[in-house]
This record gives sequence, C-alpha cells and structure tokens, in this order.
Amino acid sequence: MACTSATRTMGIFAHVDAGKTTTSEAFLYLTGRIHRVGRVDQGDTQLDWMEQERKRGITITSAATTCHWRGHQINLIDTPGHVDFSAEVVRSIRVIDGAVVVLCGVGGVEPQSETVWLHTEREGLPRLVFINKLDRDGADFDRVLAEFKAELSPRAVALQIPIGREDGLSGVVDLVQRQALVWHEDALDPQVEEIPPAMATAVSAARTALVDAVCEADEALLELWLEGGEPSEEALIAALRRAVIAGHLVPVFCGAALRGIGVQPLLDAVVDYLPAPQDRPCSKELEVPDGGDSATPLRAVAFKLVRDAYVGHLTWVRVFAGQLRPRDRILNPRTGTLERVSRVYRIHAEKREPVECCERGDVVGLVGMKSARTGDTLCDPLHPILLAGFEFPDPVITVALRAPVPEEIDKLQQAVLQLCDEDPTLKARFDPETGEQTLAGMGELHLEVTVDRLRSEFGLTPEVSLPQIAYGETVRREATAVATYKRQSGGHGHYAQVRLAVEPLEQGGGLLFENAAPPWRRTEGTTGALRPFIPGEYIRDVELGVRQVLEQGVIAGYPLTDLRVRLLGGRFHEVDSTGMDYRIAESMAMRQVVRQARPGLLEPVMAVDISTREEYLGTVTADLGRRRGHVLAIGAKGRLRQFGGVAPLAEVRGYATALRNLTQGRATFVLSLKQYDLVPGDISDEVIAQRREAGKVPAR
Ligand code: GDP
Repeated sequence: MACTSATRTMGIFAHVDAGKTTTSEAFLYLTGRIHRVGRVDQGDTQLDWMEQERKRGITITSAATTCHWRGHQINLIDTPGHVDFSAEVVRSIRVIDGAVVVLCGVGGVEPQSETVWLHTEREGLPRLVFINKLDRDGADFDRVLAEFKAELSPRAVALQIPIGREDGLSGVVDLVQRQALVWHEDALDPQVEEIPPAMATAVSAARTALVDAVCEADEALLELWLEGGEPSEEALIAALRRAVIAGHLVPVFCGAALRGIGVQPLLDAVVDYLPAPQDRPCSKELEVPDGGDSATPLRAVAFKLVRDAYVGHLTWVRVFAGQLRPRDRILNPRTGTLERVSRVYRIHAEKREPVECCERGDVVGLVGMKSARTGDTLCDPLHPILLAGFEFPDPVITVALRAPVPEEIDKLQQAVLQLCDEDPTLKARFDPETGEQTLAGMGELHLEVTVDRLRSEFGLTPEVSLPQIAYGETVRREATAVATYKRQSGGHGHYAQVRLAVEPLEQGGGLLFENAAPPWRRTEGTTGALRPFIPGEYIRDVELGVRQVLEQGVIAGYPLTDLRVRLLGGRFHEVDSTGMDYRIAESMAMRQVVRQARPGLLEPVMAVDISTREEYLGTVTADLGRRRGHVLAIGAKGRLRQFGGVAPLAEVRGYATALRNLTQGRATFVLSLKQYDLVPGDISDEVIAQRREAGKVPAR
C-alpha cells in the first residue's frame, strides 16, 4: 500500500514534439519498469500504445503509469499534446497534483506551451519546467529561460544550468547543491564532479538569483538572508517546495531526455518539489475535505474509460479520499447504482499489476464498473456525495455515418455508443428509419480521429458526410388553421377534420400541446352522420400527428421548437372516421398552421471565449465581425487579452484552424452553445434551398 505522503500524481505537458514522450520513457526506463527505451521515431514507445497514436505520432488519450523513485510512488498520467484535444488536457489536469512542463531547447515557448500553461494556471497546478533537447543544434538554455520568464511566468527560477552546448552538452550544474552532474559516454548515471572553473561566475550569479527568489517567497528565509546568513541546503529545498506548491515559484531544469541527460535530477525534483496528495489544497470542484486515512469514506472520480483487450472494460479513477479494494461495493451517485469492484489494477501502459488496496492520490484502473462514465463520482455507499464532475463543452459539429451494408448498421451503432461512453465530448443519435447514425464532436479533427477509430479498432467502414450544423424551426406569430381529410373510396369512406392554433413561446419554451376542444357529448336530435366534435378516443391520434410534424419540421426538415399547439376542435363522421384519419388531418393542419405563423429557421449561436495576445486582438475581433459575430466583453491578464463574444455556429466551423492561422497559433478558445437565434432571411433561404435539394424537406 502506498503511504500517501510518498505519492506523487503528476502529468507531463508539452508542445507536440518538445519531448514529452521521450521524457516519460526516460522516467520509466530509469525507474526500472521497462528495459528498453522505446523511440517515438520507430513507433514502438511504451506509452503511446494505441494504434491511433502510433500512426499519428500524437498522444490523444491519457494512459496512467506507476513507477517508483527514491521510495516514492509516482503516478504518471500521459497527457495529450494536441490543442484540439484540450478537453483531454483539462481532464488530465483535474486528476493530478502537479506537472512537469517540457519546453524545447530550440523552439522555446511554442503556441501549445502557452495553451497548456494557461490551462494549468487556471487550475492552480504546481509545475516544474524541463528545458529539453539542449543537445540539438541551435539550442540555447538562457534564451529559452528568458523567453519563458517574459512570456509565461516571471516566477520561473533556474535550479540548474547546462554544462556545454549543443552536441557538447555533457551535464548540468545543480545550483542548490552546488555540484556538477556529468553524464559520461554510455553511462546511465551521472557522475558528481567539481563545477568547471570556467562556469564559476555564471554559477554564482545563477545561484544568487535562485536564493534571492526563494527568500523573497519565504519570510523566514528572507529574514535570515537579510541578516547576511546563507540558508542551508535543506532549508532551501524545504522553502522551494513550499513556494512551488503555493504557486509562487516555478523551478526550471534542463537536459536532453533522448540522451538521458538531466532525467534523474528531474525525477528527484518531482519527489522534492511536487506536492503529495495531501499537500494540495483540494480543488473546489472536488470539494474533498482534509482526510485520507482509512476512516475517511471513499471519494474517487472516474476520468477515463478504455476497452482493454484482456480485462475488458477498464474504468480509470483517481482516488481523492478513503481507500478502495477489490470486491468493495461502491456507489455511483449520478445513476444511483451500487457496483462491485471486481479487480483493481495499477497500470504500466499495457501491463497490469493487481492492487489490493489503493488510497488518496492513487490512479488505478477498475474492472467491473458498469455505470461509470467519465467525470462520475464513485463513493462509499454509506457516505454518498456527488463531486462535481468535469464540464465538457457541448459538441459543435455533426457528421452523418452510414453503414455501407445493412449488416453493419447494428455494429456501427454499438461501436458509436461505446466510443461515446469513453469520450463524453462525443454525442450520437440513431435514426432507426433511415439507419443513419449521427455523431457530434468538438471539432473536425476530433471527429476524424473518432471515425479512424471506428475503422481501426472496430473494423467498420462507414460513409461519412460533410460536417453539418443542427438547425431548428420555430414560428413567429399566432395562427389558426382548419384541415379536413376526406376520401370516398368505394364502400367505406374516410373523414376527419381538425382545428388548430399555434403561438410562439419564449426561447427554451420547448413544445406544449393542449387539448382545448370542447368536450364531446352525443348531441340529442342531431341528424346525419357528421358531428361537430372529436371523440376523446381520437385525441391521442391527434397528438401523435402533431408530434410527428414537430419532429420532421415544416420548412427545412429540422425539428420545431418553442411553440404551443392548441387543438380547438373538429368534426367526426359516425361511420367513416378512424384514428388514422385524425393523424393525417392533424398533420395537414399542422403544416398549414405553421406556414401561416411566419415560420423561421433557428441556428445555434455559440459563446466564443478567446484568449490571445494583445497584438492579435484587432485581427481576431474583425474576423469575428465577418462571421456575423461580435465581442461582448474584453479582459486582460498580463499580455493576454481574454474576450467573450458570440457567433453563429455555422460561421465558426473550422474556427480552430482559422484562429490558429490568424494568430500563429497563439490563441485558445472555447465554444459553448449560448442560444438559438433566427437565421437572417437570405441565409435562411439558402439553407432551405439546400435542404430541399437534398430531399430533406417533408412534402407538403
Ligand atoms: P512529444 O511529441 O512531446 O511526445 O515529443 P517526443 O518525445 O515524441 O519527441 C519528438 C522528437 O524529438 C523525437 O524524434 C525524439 O526522438 C526527439 N527528441 C526528444 N527529446 C530529445 C532530446 O533530448 N534531444 C534530441 N536531439 N532529440 C530529442
């Protein structure tokens, strides 16, 4: 069992290609869990084990790996590097206590480093920085450090400086212990040596800057420092640890992960400076009170579901309080389901190690969970609590998938449902009549990757439509209509008449159906077969007719919303009227009344929250204007400008790419559904014409 103070649950973040995978590999290699360092270039790394990732060379899922260093258990969550998967980045951040941010020693602060930095900053995550690839041509530690301080964090402070440059890189000087660590040719471990005399001045200046920064962040040390005392190594490390956990300082390390240079000290730093689970003030969302001993009830959050070839369905959880054992019964408060954990695994990529007990800070895979979805709380049934889950933005883009052969329809539906369970940013809908499956996601790349997974993991080959927007229809004024359905075909005739009214409701009003027809009674003395009422037994048919039209839409084949439909009355024929006649008459009346009530097309309008640098503000604002959008509010955070605006979804398709191009990638944005608004006339005409051409508009 892990002693929680000796646990570090962390992630490594980086711009694509900065060396996150290589650094993770080196961690695992040095901690003895794998015996061969996988090289990304050869597509055989231990962490990027999904075929997808191998093919694309990017990491899109979080695999959690446990390793040990200096008597500490390090739970390493593999994090996605691609901005399009920022929901995954956010999800990983919520389940870790600290992070290492890897920067490229040549490229320096790249757009995605900035994105990741913003995300971690928002969550108040303690971080270390590793300036990697210092063995490469053009690498420059001082330049990257200065860039990092200026652009991302003035709180950065170097704890090391490199020995040698580019190909001549041989080690690092540890500024806390004032010693040189040199990696000699082919040696795995560094040798502790004297600081090269030529570096004395640089080391002294860097050490002074370090001690200054630590003392400024720590009152006790500051007093000592002002009195002319030199803090001891232990005092310095302890003060640094406090400052990192409080977010006052960001220590910077350096090396070349590919050559193993600087990795052991980085592992040391994870142990020395990143928080244990109980060191971190609990994030508000998780609202776990202080605790962690065996008496504390279990509180865990499921953050990832995966299908595992050997154990089946695996639910990854982070334990925030209490303990969890195989055969425990736990509660999923969202569904009210009690579940039995059958097995618990700690995971090293594809290898699993059964666990008998895990506790606060642990990240484990559970077998046996049926109800848990990403973001769900799992807790002690006697102490139910619903921890806030993760908030996922609504999917913004939809494609239709069509199975090429009827036999695949069912398989496709099952596969899509499974992917939706694993990835809460996907939403699916299946139309049993057309066999069409729609899939909505966060962006084009997101859907592309998902469709690729259908191919590679499920062996399915669906036809995929172009991405589409989900429009709606509504009415803008009151109207009434009467429709009569009458047929005389040979013997038995058909007859039904209905009178209807519709009126618009406020946005979000949904659909209301009211039966306002006078109650039916057999009128004494009426002669002939026609009666001025609709018998009660047919009201259900009338309502079914209404619902059908509401779902199918009238002008463009999109569902109607925000209106009230009232049945005012009708007639029936003693002999001829049937339920089906009322359904038909009702559909006719609905289509008529909607056409008279100034129908309009509704489109999803998105709240757009953008963070970018000041210099791009004008460009981005102007671009938003061209997209029928506008800015509502602007705020500042350092050099960053954050602004909130709105724009119709139809105009922000492909926005990730557009924004990346407009800002050289130096912007992040979040789109979320704000409301549905009427589409302006000319655009609406265009959409309706296209729908008609595509045969999606129901016949009159
Ligand atoms: P990730 O995308 O951040 O996971 O980056 P990778 O770990 O996949 O590394 C990207 C490329 O940089 C690969 O070709 C690595 O071999 C290479 N690389 C990583 N670390 C170093 C390093 O320290 N030195 C050099 N020269 N190359 C490195």
